Amino acid sequence: MSNTNNIQGKVILAAAGPGDPELITMKAARYLQSADVVLTDRLVSHEILTQYVNPAAEVIYVGKQCRRGNSTPQETINELMRQFAQQGKLVVRLKGGDVSIFSNILDELQVLVQHTIPYEIVPGVTAALGAAAYAGIPLTARGYSTAVRLLTYYKSDIVPDQYWEELAKTSDTLVFYMSAETVDGIVSKLIRYGIGKDRHIAVIEQGTTTAQQVYSSGIYDFTGRFEGYSFISPSLVIVGRVVTLHEQFAWLANASVREQYFKPMALLQNNINHNKKAHVSRA
Ligand code: SAH
Repeated sequence: MSNTNNIQGKVILAAAGPGDPELITMKAARYLQSADVVLTDRLVSHEILTQYVNPAAEVIYVGKQCRRGNSTPQETINELMRQFAQQGKLVVRLKGGDVSIFSNILDELQVLVQHTIPYEIVPGVTAALGAAAYAGIPLTARGYSTAVRLLTYYKSDIVPDQYWEELAKTSDTLVFYMSAETVDGIVSKLIRYGIGKDRHIAVIEQGTTTAQQVYSSGIYDFTGRFEGYSFISPSLVIVGRVVTLHEQFAWLANASVREQYFKPMALLQNNINHNKKAHVSRA
């Protein structure tokens, strides 16, 4: 499989799920076991990388961290993927949540097609589905909501004013990715356009992980309770009548300590190499 120029490599664009390592699919886990190289995002459980990956595989962090620097440029990721595949390797490009939701999969697909590198796409549990399930919020509960919208508001010009008006009026459940730092803006826009008093909001911090915390309230009470609060990344914002169901159906208590589940990249790269060495020497 490795190191032969004549043998065609392959890239598996695989989802790791939102946090809980058991939320990865069997298909992705199976590919990790036979991978030569794993190119991983930051929001992938450490346990997946240390326990599920072929001990002989090279694991490389190519994470991005919105607004916090320390990011791997997309061209570098594309180039690594291409080079390893053209060396005949089985490359798993592992992404947090699902592979296609708010990700750069399109750039990667274009590079693969351009270089006629074979690939597969393995879907996964996106953060909206994982976090909602672990918070006891059925996203389209009968009688509460008939649709879900996956949105983002990481910068203010991304949602025009007419659309805010529609979002304030709709009965659809709204899920905002990459928007924990702008949640005060989401609340004030929705209130400005007259969102109903029956709408609640939840911020789910580090959903499905052992560090999960849910902060929820009526949308009109949110500012008084949580304005300026700094939510730990990654956090997801859910707005809708369905959020009221959290109180009744939450099955997981908030973590007793507030700590970061996904470690910063620099720390991780060292850790992984260290743990994998330990793993190999035990084998
Ligand atoms: N492809 C990913 C999303 C990548 S964008 C997916 O399908 O889930 C990154 C954003 O996803 C974060 O800013 C956050 O809003 C959300 N997210 C990812 N994992 C999360 C988690 N465990 N808990 C809460 N939000 C999460």
